[in-house]
Amino acid sequence: MKIPNEILRVEGLRKSFGSNEVLKGVDLRIEKGETVVLLGASGSGKSTLLRCLNFLEIPTGGRITFSGTILGASDSKGAVHYSEREMVATRKRIGMVFQQFNLFPHMTAMQNVVEAQVTVLGRTRADAEKRARTLLDKVGLAAKGDSYPARLSGGQQQRVAIARALAMDPELMLFDEATSALDPELVGEVLQTMRALAEEGMTMVVVTHELGFAYHVASRVIFLDQGRILEQGSPHAVLLQPKAARLRDFMAGHV
Ligand code: ADP
Ligand code: MG
Repeated sequence: MKIPNEILRVEGLRKSFGSNEVLKGVDLRIEKGETVVLLGASGSGKSTLLRCLNFLEIPTGGRITFSGTILGASDSKGAVHYSEREMVATRKRIGMVFQQFNLFPHMTAMQNVVEAQVTVLGRTRADAEKRARTLLDKVGLAAKGDSYPARLSGGQQQRVAIARALAMDPELMLFDEATSALDPELVGEVLQTMRALAEEGMTMVVVTHELGFAYHVASRVIFLDQGRILEQGSPHAVLLQPKAARLRDFMAGHV
């Protein structure tokens, strides 16, 4: 059944590294405009799940449907194979922000936001610069376009990285502990940028340990435990009335 507003559907997603099965059958449906916060202990498979969604890792089993298109083709044994073309095409439509900002150090903030627009999307440099200016303004860095990353704070660098991802006009944004590498006093400005994005209706999957963000911004919170979704629901239900013992333990470790 096709749900009109569904942007992503994941069914029975599995991922192994050698004999280590990290994702053990994850089912997930995300509608346009949702902000889903993914919680879980270190090693539970959060990064692997995000990376499978945009094919930075190739799933070993299960099904991914993105914007109504079922990805991959099954062989006679039921294994799913993804073509390079569809992986590249899907990756282009999904933005990702990492813990490490990975800006190009030899390029200004502006150039960092412009580059992939030109090389990947084929925009003219003038169009790309116009879009970059709008986005740098949006993340509160209108005055920093000419600065090199080394001259920017971590929070500013991460906001440039967000602008760079947005410049590709993604249909879905993935954030993997985007504030975990920041000094505490810089976390708020990045969370604020992410919150504004969520409130504008961007569809987002956010891995974070910032429970305040999860409580106030998430439309849904998912708790991943040992490669499986153990519990999910409204922020209130998951954060304040956790049912699973392992989730209660996790919450107790975060207050
Ligand atoms: P989380 O983000 O929740 O901390 P990860 O998805 O990074 O968890 O890791 C889950 C498990 O998968 C860990 O045991 C980790 O060692 C393993 N893992 C992740 N990436 C790789 C990889 N590229 N090769 C081998 N093992 C990996
Ligand atoms: Mg991780």
